[in-house]
Amino acid sequence: MGEMKLREQIEILATLQNVDREIKEKNGTKQVLLGELQVKDKELQSKKQEIALLTAACAEKERERQGKERVLQDEGKKAMDKRMRMNRIKNIKELQALQREIDQIRQGNSDLEEELIRVFEEIDRIKAELKAKEEEATMMQEEWQQRQEDMQSKISGIDQLVAEAYTLRKTIASQIAGELISRYELIFARRGGSAVVEVAGGICQGCYMNIPPQLWNEIIKSEKVNLCPSCQRILYYKPSAQQEKEA
Ligand SMILES: [Zn+2]
Repeated sequence: MGEMKLREQIEILATLQNVDREIKEKNGTKQVLLGELQVKDKELQSKKQEIALLTAACAEKERERQGKERVLQDEGKKAMDKRMRMNRIKNIKELQALQREIDQIRQGNSDLEEELIRVFEEIDRIKAELKAKEEEATMMQEEWQQRQEDMQSKISGIDQLVAEAYTLRKTIASQIAGELISRYELIFARRGGSAVVEVAGGICQGCYMNIPPQLWNEIIKSEKVNLCPSCQRILYYKPSAQQEKEA
């Protein structure tokens, strides 16, 4: 480490930064894809939830229908028994009373039949809705399946590129002093993926502020790590090939 000049190390650091930016960008893309997967998954789950609720509502209505049908049957039987009893009764008053009871049961059953018709209608409506939702869910599931496969392959592609970038990063990083890397990493994280910036035309390329002449001299000498007074990024200066020859 000692033999390499700080200026060269900082230039290598700028190369490292390019790799780190690529890793950051790829990881960002992966996060977006994972987020999309999550959203789709939630949509499908919520559709399934709707289906579960409708299925429960349908079962509830079926129970209501069975209950009403049972009452209707029981009351029908009662009316029949009463009619049979009429044959054995001779007293006119008793007969009239019995007839009233039978009429009442008939009226009650007629109301019950009306209710039952409405229950049947509701069951039909729920079943139609359920069928539509199930078809939607099937379509979503199929579309989702395809999309998921597509996304998974994209994600594994990214993972591979990131793994390769990390290998490259390790090689590059081995040429730079650990202390310099730690310092760089801290700034990289805090300054949105830009920690080492060139000074061009006396201007910091990180924040576009003018560099004071004194600092500019320091940067050219490059005996220590120089930070931009305005954005605190590591500054470096890359002499052009022409300038290198002259030096
Ligand atoms: Zn700056």
